[in-house]
Amino acid sequence: MIENEDYLKAVRMIEAGRPLQAQQIPIPRIGKRDILVRIRAAGICHSDVHYRSGLSPVKPLPMTLGHEVAGIVEQAGAHVTGVKAGDRVGLHYNITCGNCYHCSTGSEQFCSTCLMLGHFTDGGYAEYIAVPAHNAIPLPDEIPFEQGATLMCASATSFHALRKARLKPGDTSAIFGIGGLGMSAIQLAKAFGALDVFAVDINEEKLNLAAEYGAIPINAASVPPVAEIRRLTKGRGVDVALELIGLPQTMRQAVQCLGVMGRAVIAGLSNKPLELDTYHELIGNEVEIIGSNDHLLQELPSLVEMARRKILDTSKVVTRIIPLDADAINDALDELERFGGDGRTVIVP
Ligand SMILES: [Zn+2]
Ligand SMILES: [Zn+2]
Repeated sequence: MIENEDYLKAVRMIEAGRPLQAQQIPIPRIGKRDILVRIRAAGICHSDVHYRSGLSPVKPLPMTLGHEVAGIVEQAGAHVTGVKAGDRVGLHYNITCGNCYHCSTGSEQFCSTCLMLGHFTDGGYAEYIAVPAHNAIPLPDEIPFEQGATLMCASATSFHALRKARLKPGDTSAIFGIGGLGMSAIQLAKAFGALDVFAVDINEEKLNLAAEYGAIPINAASVPPVAEIRRLTKGRGVDVALELIGLPQTMRQAVQCLGVMGRAVIAGLSNKPLELDTYHELIGNEVEIIGSNDHLLQELPSLVEMARRKILDTSKVVTRIIPLDADAINDALDELERFGGDGRTVIVP
């Protein structure tokens, strides 16, 4: 039983550009529609690097980072009905109001008062977290907490991007960037019914893993990817291309490899302009360029079920487990900052 005066350990951002620090803070009290979750896993995401550095401002400070969270419900508020103490859950990271224009028209990711965990409200680098019960997604026993935590971000982004791409059975697709998002995207594209999935990257190891998941690997360091995709599709191009890297060059390639009426979904982040030959690459083929950001709460239950059924294998996503320790977490963030990351590091308190 949690008492009011009890404290939790959290690793928190105190100031932009400084290492995170361990702090003892009071265990948050929950409201009638909230739950308190004992955290069992919190993923370290590339965006956490940008939060710590100040590139993407975090407020208010100090703040407990971490938006990929899974754990066990410790306490449920009096009006909570969907989950109860002892349940395993993953947490949807956007806390939305449910009432504003966007919430009530099916686009809750644009909620005018949206509070993202670990960005605008305390997140998962801690022993406990309080969230509205509405944000809890039941996590089946077959999915380990570490994998459940990462499902809530990388896989969810790919799932949303593919839904935005309107990928249909029989379509062909190309995925640019085979990191955590790309590996999920390949499997999900197959599950959505894509016949051929081309995986474009310059890392041979990742391409080998992509091939294991049934993709056709294209190493952009040895062949021009657009020409290769044209060659392999008998000149037709693909129906759907996903850009998960965030480079103007690969964004353009994603558009250039489309067939007529193809859809390129851009989910990689960049602030650079994208240049196109607007007639030959856009208008002439009636292709669409679609932006995709975040995901929706309503998408998570099906995604979790796909992972439970092993349609989406998340067993290779988590590559390292670390304790809830400020030095270990700062080291993991430093490493992500310097080299990017192939796999996910997950904190297990
Ligand atoms: Zn993330
Ligand atoms: Zn809202």
